[in-house]
Amino acid sequence: MAKRLIVKLGEDILRKKCREVTEFDDRLASLLDDMKETMTDADGVGLAGPQVGVLKRVAVISPNGKKFYEFVNPTIVRSSGSQICREGCLSVPGINGDVERPKCIEVKAQDRHGKPFVLKAEGFLANICCHEFDHLDGILFIDKMIRKEK
Ligand code: ZN
Repeated sequence: MAKRLIVKLGEDILRKKCREVTEFDDRLASLLDDMKETMTDADGVGLAGPQVGVLKRVAVISPNGKKFYEFVNPTIVRSSGSQICREGCLSVPGINGDVERPKCIEVKAQDRHGKPFVLKAEGFLANICCHEFDHLDGILFIDKMIRKEK
């Protein structure tokens, strides 16, 4: 595993749409391992492909630093309710603010071997999923921020 550099606001890659992953090979596995290490090292709860300079539809999430989730080609297939979330982003240092997100979501994705799975998430986990999956379409939380924290 190796730590990767985190791309910061202002770099074009954060605004691009990521490509679907079609090869579930060793490169993908190393990418996910590296992302996990990079996120943990930076004390983050989630990290998406573009944040390490890779335009692939992948994200890693860890709401508490213990349980890790990996998503390849994720899509939110169902969502309900709403919650106001205090968000920040490893790619947008120094800014925090409130974003409205669905309270419950259902995610369809694949694991690192290409095996499909469905995950139901609510609360904080749903919040992180929405934030990370937005990255895969070039969307940042500051685009949706309804209130900036002073
Ligand atoms: Zn982010």
